[in-house]
Amino acid sequence: MSTPASPKVGFVSLGCPKALVDSERILTQLRMEGYEVVSSYEDADVVVVNTCGFIDSAKAESLDVIGEALAENGKVIVTGCMGVEESAIRNVHPSVLAVTGPQQYEQVLNAVHDVVAPNKEHNPLIDLVPPQGVKLTPRHYAYLKISEGCNHSCSFCIIPSMRGKLVSRPVGEVLGEAERLVKAGVKEVLVISQDTSAYGVDMKYKTDFWNGQPVKTRMLELCEALGSMGVWVRLHYVYPYPNVDDVIPLMAAGKILPYLDIPFQHASPKVLKAMKRPAFEDKTLARIKNWREQCPELTIRSTFIVGFPGETEEDFQYLLDWLSEAQLDRVGCFQYSPVEGAPANDLDLEPVPDDIKQDRWDRFMAHQQAISAERLQQKIGREIEVLIDEVDDEGAVGRSWADAPEIDGSVFIATNSVSPGDKVRVRVVDADEYDLWAELL
Ligand code: SF4
Repeated sequence: MSTPASPKVGFVSLGCPKALVDSERILTQLRMEGYEVVSSYEDADVVVVNTCGFIDSAKAESLDVIGEALAENGKVIVTGCMGVEESAIRNVHPSVLAVTGPQQYEQVLNAVHDVVAPNKEHNPLIDLVPPQGVKLTPRHYAYLKISEGCNHSCSFCIIPSMRGKLVSRPVGEVLGEAERLVKAGVKEVLVISQDTSAYGVDMKYKTDFWNGQPVKTRMLELCEALGSMGVWVRLHYVYPYPNVDDVIPLMAAGKILPYLDIPFQHASPKVLKAMKRPAFEDKTLARIKNWREQCPELTIRSTFIVGFPGETEEDFQYLLDWLSEAQLDRVGCFQYSPVEGAPANDLDLEPVPDDIKQDRWDRFMAHQQAISAERLQQKIGREIEVLIDEVDDEGAVGRSWADAPEIDGSVFIATNSVSPGDKVRVRVVDADEYDLWAELL
């Protein structure tokens, strides 16, 4: 199968630490969308120059760099502090493609999309971020991508052929990015990758340095260091490998959020085998039980696929029974549909008819909703901490440790005396199957 090349972006970041944080956020988002960040003008499809406009010499340097990028590459987007003086830039360099000011992340990304689009359709089974993309507002949470690619070969997935094998970012680099995000006011860091629990395997857990201290490029050490930054740290795309046991004590101690996003996808051993899923064995339920004994607050979110080729009614019933046992908190479910180029298309297995897929999806959702609703009901009367995302005339909307932005539920609070980014204590007064309602303490 041919592998679509990643679109490539060159990035020049000038100016102060604030400008660097802007660069970081733009680069984080671009990486998330599948762009590759390259270090030479000639390899780039487009170059972004984040400028400084603080003093005249900084402006002159910004104009020089824009000129250099235009000469070497030709397609240049300007952002940053000097972007507020668009005419000063266009007078010297009329051919720049777009000019935006500081913190105008969305506009920069739109300008990049106009030149070179992200190279993939959204695929709910394998994409790391929601279909609407990563919102860069509210700005108090940020995604932190720790690796690219994947060493597995799940039969429904084209990531390994598209992005290649796992390549972890050195832990010093990841922690430096996290630290800059925290300094810029980020209150919640969402760790993502295709396989967070495999972080560092490709580098043989090589020791790197952060603030002069040696740190291994490994999930546990990453979590310990992130947990020392005083912000919420949430783990996504974790597989239930034995090494996940090591981070549960950090959750129990309040260092990182007691939250695990584990894409189980199914429970029937036969279907999981056909899917070629990693880290599945029948001890998963025991592992979950053990985690919960150590850390009763642990929230587990997951996604599942129904209607995978060869799935029988018996397999599906196995899945429902497994869900009853596992008592997961948050669950998404997709009906299987073939992905172009995925090995599952060549499996010699009976496709599941669409009406049966739909029926199983309906039954799955009803089954899990009852579980989720029951688990949320148990929170009524409890005091919890909430991070506020939005405030309007009708009140505030926030999230607890159990709610990842955009995919889980919300906590509604009838107050407007708080601001986005505040962490507040509330008492839960009501719940449905997704959301909570609470009063400010
Ligand atoms: S673990 Fe499986 S589904 Fe996830 S990226 Fe790797 S191959 Fe794809």
